Amino acid sequence: MFAHVRLICFDLDDTLWPCVPVIRAAEAHCYAWLQREAPRLTARYSADELRAHRIELARRQPQIAHDLTEVRLRSLATLLEDAGYPRVVAHRASDEFRAARNRVTPYDEVVAALARLRARFTLVSVTNGNSQIEHTPLHASFDHSLTAAEVGAAKPDPAMFHVASRRSGVPLSAFLHVGDDPARDVQAARELGLSTVWVNRDGREWPADIAVADLEVDDLTGLVAKLAESHSV
Ligand SMILES: [Mg+2]
Repeated sequence: MFAHVRLICFDLDDTLWPCVPVIRAAEAHCYAWLQREAPRLTARYSADELRAHRIELARRQPQIAHDLTEVRLRSLATLLEDAGYPRVVAHRASDEFRAARNRVTPYDEVVAALARLRARFTLVSVTNGNSQIEHTPLHASFDHSLTAAEVGAAKPDPAMFHVASRRSGVPLSAFLHVGDDPARDVQAARELGLSTVWVNRDGREWPADIAVADLEVDDLTGLVAKLAESHSV
């Protein structure tokens, strides 16, 4: 099934680590920091209200909506300045958020599975999120790591796949993309002619209006087993 594959791209959030607990913890950490460093801001806005302001800003400025760090920074800078704080406070708050956002915990099988695959394939991470791979436990797992902020567009836009091909020198026809999101991962990759794997860790139903992935697995162990049929991984 995958004999042609030379490069494997991986989505990060909810494919290689659970995302929601990390974002929640990072937002709580950042808000607690703001309560100490910018109490006039937190007296005016709850954490939910800050989030609503970010969402509204991204809606009004679609040209930066793919760059979650920039959205957060601009939103915070505006509200902090209104509350009488200098712009540097927004940068420090953003740094606090990002440091906490990088404290991800990969699913149990991930580190070992990536190490096995990397012996046979070029591995690339492609994320819409704002984790910084070099500051996570997967800092040594990939040959290349791309973000929507860096390439200027989020999946399902094909930009990250094209950049991955240019950077690695591997044609898209030899790519396998692995992700948890039916539309942004599987459908987006298939439209470019990539082979696709859906990682379905919690038994979700596949959406009826999207063609299925080439392979569905519960975790990366299933992926390694399948690739062992065509490559000696
Ligand atoms: Mg994901």
